[in-house]
Amino acid sequence: MEFAYYNPKSIQALADTLSGLHSYALLAGGTDLLVKMKEKLLRPMPAAVVDINGIDDLQAIDDEDGYLSIGALVSHTALTRSPLVKGKAGILADAAGQVGSPQIRNRGTVGGNICNASPAADTVPALLALDARVRIHSRHDFLELPLADLFKGPGRTCLLPGQFISRIKVRQIQADEGAAFFKFGKRKALAIAIINCAVWLKIADGMICDARIAFGSVAPTPIRLYELEKWLIGKPAGIEVFTQAGVIASQLLKPIDDVRSKASYRTRLARVVVCRGLAAALEQVQMRCECG
Ligand SMILES: Cc1cc2nc3c(=O)[nH]c(=O)nc-3n(C[C@H](O)[C@H](O)[C@H](O)COP(=O)(O)OP(=O)(O)OC[C@H]3O[C@@H](n4cnc5c(N)ncnc54)[C@H](O)[C@@H]3O)c2cc1C
Repeated sequence: MEFAYYNPKSIQALADTLSGLHSYALLAGGTDLLVKMKEKLLRPMPAAVVDINGIDDLQAIDDEDGYLSIGALVSHTALTRSPLVKGKAGILADAAGQVGSPQIRNRGTVGGNICNASPAADTVPALLALDARVRIHSRHDFLELPLADLFKGPGRTCLLPGQFISRIKVRQIQADEGAAFFKFGKRKALAIAIINCAVWLKIADGMICDARIAFGSVAPTPIRLYELEKWLIGKPAGIEVFTQAGVIASQLLKPIDDVRSKASYRTRLARVVVCRGLAAALEQVQMRCECG
């Protein structure tokens, strides 16, 4: 296997490098890319590999006035260990901590998890529930896009040639908000999700004033259940509503049978995780109220 190798040292140098190439692949942790290259699963095979690991600006996690700004190259291990992520976007640390094995989490990055565009990517439902936006760079400018709009199908994003993700911006969880992430696989570790789900709730005076619910492994891309989110708003936060929400989620989702699970099992899991996730999110808000 032959390819040219580039390792730019800044975001601008990366953008300049890409603008001069016709066929390339970005190399972050390489845990998806190198497997595909070795197995010759990429058609056509890239003529160049552009290694982004030397770009310091892609490695930082910053606290930005109600948001966390996370570099695309931040590893899953770094997400699980970051006090900022654990304290202000805990479901992202939980999701990153359930990716693969320690070795995969040490190499694999959040940007790679997003751009690989697997329907089962573990960090993506958590990011969607945190209302994530991605910063997309190209040679002359950059734009910000809701993460939900990035995915076009299994393994496909809307990124154009020359574009790459530099940062991911998520809302920090506030005192009147709670969130939870669940993953079910065939094993408890080193297993791709049969289903993964993240929920986020905002509560005022015992009522739900906002909600976000995201799933992976139930559709060609990770998805948000906007219809259910709308249904929840204005309802009292409690087990009756959460149980109904689980039933509605299982009715809205249209998963398929595949090697990991039957569709019917995924639908049953969806009912349970939505109910449990909402209950866990409410409990967090209640505990903060009692403590604070
Ligand atoms: C044994 C094993 C177990 C795994 N288990 C899990 C699991 O449990 N859950 C899970 O979600 N994933 C799992 N994965 C998949 C993988 O580890 C993750 O998706 C990881 O986050 C990918 O990140 P990376 O940095 O290694 O990406 P890379 O392999 O470097 O890149 C992946 C793709 O994204 C592109 N890319 C990377 N960064 C950018 C960027 N900034 N801008 C634009 N394009 C970019 C690359 O060109 C490539 O196409 C597993 C993989 C293996 C090999």
